Amino acid sequence: MSAAVDVSALRVGVRELALSFEQSYWRKCDADREYPEQFVQALTDAGWLSVLIPEEYGGGGLGVTEASVIMEEINSTGASTSACHAQMYTMGAVLRHGTPEQKQEYLPQIAAGALRLQAFAVTEPDAGSDTTRISTFARRTADGYVVNGRKMWISRMQHTDLMLLLARTTPRDQVERRTDGLSLFLVDLRQAGGSVRYEPIDTMVNHETNAVFLDDLELPADALVGIEGKGFRHVLDGMNAERILLASESIGDARWFLEKASAYAREREVFGRPIGDNQGISFPLARAYANMHAATLVRDRAAALFDAGEPAGTDANIAKLLASEAAWEAANAAMTTFGGYGMAVEYDIERKFRESRLYLVAPVSNNLILNHVAGHVLGLGRS
Ligand SMILES: Cc1cc2nc3c(=O)[nH]c(=O)nc-3n(C[C@H](O)[C@H](O)[C@H](O)COP(=O)(O)OP(=O)(O)OC[C@H]3O[C@@H](n4cnc5c(N)ncnc54)[C@H](O)[C@@H]3O)c2cc1C
Repeated sequence: MSAAVDVSALRVGVRELALSFEQSYWRKCDADREYPEQFVQALTDAGWLSVLIPEEYGGGGLGVTEASVIMEEINSTGASTSACHAQMYTMGAVLRHGTPEQKQEYLPQIAAGALRLQAFAVTEPDAGSDTTRISTFARRTADGYVVNGRKMWISRMQHTDLMLLLARTTPRDQVERRTDGLSLFLVDLRQAGGSVRYEPIDTMVNHETNAVFLDDLELPADALVGIEGKGFRHVLDGMNAERILLASESIGDARWFLEKASAYAREREVFGRPIGDNQGISFPLARAYANMHAATLVRDRAAALFDAGEPAGTDANIAKLLASEAAWEAANAAMTTFGGYGMAVEYDIERKFRESRLYLVAPVSNNLILNHVAGHVLGLGRS
């Protein structure tokens, strides 16, 4: 249950802060492949990144409904939450499954901005979307675990103190269900030394992401989050929140593209009239708007179900699917609207175009969402 909050005022406050970072700031970060440190600090100082932490631990005590408004408003200004969104959604696993000691140790510090929980390490090179095939292994020792393995695409390693890690604790061929035998750990990277190394991967977006190598990483027994062997379940719980928040980022992106493109289409005159008078320009924008609107309604429903403690999996997945597609549709329509200028860096369309493409694949590919709907809703086989 979240504390009562005026959502309209929340929207205004977040938007005001996000707009204080001009597009030139994001353009420079993108060109220099820089982490938007000042922006993340400003969000942290304003308390927006800790809204999901209960008030007793110094957080905002709000729900996913309010958190999704924050993500949407930030992206609707042309900014990008991807530098810090994990702090919002990785929190879920610790909140729901962490011990009282873990919560007491970490949550107040995260809420105060003294600690960052920005990394979530699930994906592996040889497992891809099939998480049950991960091979990173946490072996039990007398006083904890020793972890060895390799992770891929692990974002924000350079700007986090803590990392949530999924590893096998029982080999896949020794469990009844392939989703069993996986466990979740909260790794304090400040104590990891050379046993955690990472190599940045160059990507088409400014998204600090890395290949991670875990060599004899020693973890205390109390680094385990939740029940040993049930980590996959714990991660899934958090994933619904992640899907809803990601959908919100895409909705924000779609709003930004549509606002920019509509303004340009009203002003730009070719053949003696605004280009927006041509259906070749206006219809793709209108269609993207309709799809964004539908995605917003499903996102709102998913968030309400999640906050009420009701099953939200299907709605959260569909919200992410519809929103990421609507944002990509709006991105393409904006590219068409801007003509050649869409390619010019100073117009920002090409940067957001690249950024919005990511959400069709990550953190979960839309094909896997269709798999979920086919299997769980329609009772069909899963590809
Ligand atoms: C910039 C970036 C940041 C990321 N950050 C993180 C992070 O912080 N932490 C983390 O753990 N991961 C992260 N990821 C990884 C991301 O979650 C994965 O890339 C994604 O889950 C897909 O896995 P894959 O790339 O191995 O694709 P694969 O699993 O190899 O899939 C390739 C293609 O095949 C399709 N496919 C596979 N199986 C099926 C099927 N059964 N039916 C239909 N289609 C199928 C997929 O949909 C996809 O289109 C990040 C990725 C990127 C690009």
